[in-house]
Amino acid sequence: MNHAAIRAQFPLLTLCQGDYPLCYLDTAATAQKPECVIAAMDNYYRQQNANVHRGSYQLSASATSAVEAVRDQLVSFINACARQEIIFTHGTTESLNLLAYGLTPHLTAGDVILVDSAAHHANLVPWQQLALRTGAIVEPIALDSQQRLNIEAFKSQLARNPKLVALSHVSNVLGTVNDVAQLCQLAKHAGAITVVDGAQAIAHLNVDVQTIGCDFYAFSGHKMYGPTGVGVLWGKLSELEQLTPMLTGGEMIKTVSFSGTTFGALPHRLEAGTPPIAEIIGLGAALEFLKQHANNDSHAHEQHMLQLLQQGLAQLPEIELYGAHSDNCGAVAFNVRGEHHQDIGALLDQQGVAIRCGHHCAMPLMELLQLSGCCRASIGIYTNEQDIQQFLAALKQALELLN
Ligand code: PLP
Repeated sequence: MNHAAIRAQFPLLTLCQGDYPLCYLDTAATAQKPECVIAAMDNYYRQQNANVHRGSYQLSASATSAVEAVRDQLVSFINACARQEIIFTHGTTESLNLLAYGLTPHLTAGDVILVDSAAHHANLVPWQQLALRTGAIVEPIALDSQQRLNIEAFKSQLARNPKLVALSHVSNVLGTVNDVAQLCQLAKHAGAITVVDGAQAIAHLNVDVQTIGCDFYAFSGHKMYGPTGVGVLWGKLSELEQLTPMLTGGEMIKTVSFSGTTFGALPHRLEAGTPPIAEIIGLGAALEFLKQHANNDSHAHEQHMLQLLQQGLAQLPEIELYGAHSDNCGAVAFNVRGEHHQDIGALLDQQGVAIRCGHHCAMPLMELLQLSGCCRASIGIYTNEQDIQQFLAALKQALELLN
């Protein structure tokens, strides 16, 4: 693998911040974009801009085919069974809200919804809102002492036949990876609808929804080198058919009259309004980029970068690491003992290093760890050893300053 050539495709990574090269270690928040994604969106606006699915002219037909081609790319990227299973949204948050809203008629008072304790708020708050609407009960799935999902506790919770189980594929804070195939199998056996938040997995792991065996899988374009403003909800066709549309209006109907409306077929039934056309086309370019460059070598490279980060941090006595395992993915969470995470972030920023500090939209996890927040460094396909060295050198400098 020619890693330098992959990195060279990301223009932003050539920037400097003051006297320092920019060291971007916040890919879990959003990934940088390769030239091909930027060019695809630019080209769309210059050469193809028209609304989709409704024009009777060539330009619109061309934009429509470009959008629908990305749906096909997604089918093969995640090994879906049919293009109708791919619903375009504006991101993981919308995907999960659409799902939680759509399931409302299928839950009743007392139904149990189990949610991963490490879940991002996007995979918790919509279930809480669903519970408020229906009288269902949301319960956390415990973590073990290693901050991994506690399978024994999960098994005993399944004995209560939960209606729905919502899991993270990869924790956006800790980088821990759930064996979602095993967990979904257990949950399906107990009769639950299974939902996997794949926002942090989609760019780093081979995601095969059929192998995972879940009912729904959600992710965002911007975390996989694509643009912001586009995401995906994948669902089994039979499950998607059951969802009440959250958004209604244009594009999703079959017939409309003042005496009533009939809805159209999937996938459009769940895609009301003008879709994010340029963003979908940008996502298509990102999928092509991943098809070309994401493979066993790039995964091994990312794993190596993460281990360098974990090991470098573990060597510093002032550092406390959270849930760091060698098979984690993408991110490492830590604090400097006795120091506020935001101060560490600010001191690193002064040296050109971008990491994320705070609760990372996972306040229940922070509560479990008894933290007000923490620092998180996260990597992407473009991260190199110089990034890790710059980060560790900047952190040591910050520690010296604080001592
Ligand atoms: N779920 C996880 C695990 C995430 O990391 C994020 C974003 O950080 C989200 C959901 C929400 O994604 P978005 O803001 O793109 O909707």
